Amino acid sequence: MNTQIKRMQRLLEVGRTLNTITELRDALLLILDAASELTDSFGASILDPEPDGESLRFLVNTPDLQMLQTLLIPIDESIAGLAFRKKETVVVNDISRAPRHSKRADEVSGFPTYSVTACPILFRGEVLGILEVINKRGALDYTGEDVTILETLAAHAAIAIQNAHLQQQLEETREEAQRLDKMKTDFVAITSHELRTPLGLILGHSTFLRELVGQEHQEQLDSIIRSAMRLKEIIDSMTRVHNIQSGVASVRRRTVSVRKLILDALAAVRKEAEAKGVTLGFDIEDSDLMIEGDADKIGVAILNIIQNGVAFTNQGGYVFAVAEEVPGYVKLAIKDNGIGIPTKDLNHIFERFYQVESHLTRKHGGMGLGLSVAKMNIELHGGRIWVDSSEGQGSTFTILLPLDADQAKAADKVFIS
Ligand code: ADP
Repeated sequence: MNTQIKRMQRLLEVGRTLNTITELRDALLLILDAASELTDSFGASILDPEPDGESLRFLVNTPDLQMLQTLLIPIDESIAGLAFRKKETVVVNDISRAPRHSKRADEVSGFPTYSVTACPILFRGEVLGILEVINKRGALDYTGEDVTILETLAAHAAIAIQNAHLQQQLEETREEAQRLDKMKTDFVAITSHELRTPLGLILGHSTFLRELVGQEHQEQLDSIIRSAMRLKEIIDSMTRVHNIQSGVASVRRRTVSVRKLILDALAAVRKEAEAKGVTLGFDIEDSDLMIEGDADKIGVAILNIIQNGVAFTNQGGYVFAVAEEVPGYVKLAIKDNGIGIPTKDLNHIFERFYQVESHLTRKHGGMGLGLSVAKMNIELHGGRIWVDSSEGQGSTFTILLPLDADQAKAADKVFIS
């Protein structure tokens, strides 16, 4: 086989192997080995620009000369530096005629340099580093073919370095996101805890005062109590989120009537629905349908969805709940013909604090916690929840709940989180 084809094959092999290497250093060493071998050089190095923009530092070299790695090579007094400045490959076959050659590396390593080819590692016009080979064996000159080989390897190095940068950025972004998420979790925990005591006092005293003052200030006190209850609902949601996330929440399974769960939730929003002119309805296939579950948690999930249905449906609309038994599960669909949810938001509405409309412009209260609590409560039972919606047409939230604990265990194996 002719040498040129062999070289091309070696270059292709380097490209293929690089795809399987995750560590930058290993990738660069592979490139250096290929550079020495294919250009028949004594040694090869990759140099990295220092942040000051004045010097280069050896990142890796073959043979592995550790002592070089603390050495700074001035950009304006070295051949690597010339390639860096010109953004072009520089070939020097007789170093004695190159006044720009920095002798520092030779002094430190004890190996004199006779010839050099330095090639910039370019990525989108920016020099990420220099790939350099020294001392072509047999006292031969570096050729145009050597330059092509080095430039090909430098392109591989550019991608490897860039991938490592991106990987590092990704890691930093992930760490930052985790930090922010923890801050959010801590904020929820601290706020809900700190608000609980003063709110309890407001509720206690205002209820006591309402009894005391009789008819005269009833309206004002009712208004205070209503507002305080609303605050309590928000704090309760925050506490539920925190309890589930910190693993404190548990499911206390009892036999519960599905009909009762739905009727209780509908009763809780009846006043609000009437005031808005939204019709409530339900259809339960089997009125004796029972489920083994935590009535409080399932009740909160259903209530949050029905509450949203009423809040996001205009006058004349409806919110309708349908329950049926499907093998091993209760399927509950809560349908409204309200404003619907834009497609782009559908994947996010079950996230904590997510609201479709900006909190500042929207008409409804809430903190974007209702659906995340609903989802967590249903998933604690081994169930699933999802939504189908189109903007302007309405939404259907579907809950699939295992009928009992055994089914929930089986469901864990069926559903992939
Ligand atoms: P919030 O309590 O602030 O409404 P949720 O977690 O309950 O928060 O809901 C998240 C967002 O999903 C809401 O702000 C709303 O934009 C959207 N949404 C939820 N249910 C419906 C619905 N039935 N119709 C239209 N939008 C809805």
